[in-house]
Amino acid sequence: MEKCVNILHNAPTVDAAPVVHGEWIEGYRWNIVREKIECYTILCPECDNTFQTKTEEDREYWKKRFKVCPFCGAIMDGERRTNEPEKPV
Ligand SMILES: [Zn+2]
Repeated sequence: MEKCVNILHNAPTVDAAPVVHGEWIEGYRWNIVREKIECYTILCPECDNTFQTKTEEDREYWKKRFKVCPFCGAIMDGERRTNEPEKPV
């Protein structure tokens, strides 16, 4: 089993003002392309970008640290305050 590479340090910074609210979706065992690498992940529901961490503790740490998605600027406070209607399931 290969060690999961922590890519969080390469996350970009957000320039645009955040307007969307959301909540990180936790996951694990993310398969990267052809290799099966065990990771803990958090997924942004707004832009579908995923951050991967080596441990569950790391995941919790980064989840709390990322109040805003570095990719799309969504505010991760667990609430949706957009004016758009919920997407149909
Ligand atoms: Zn995002």
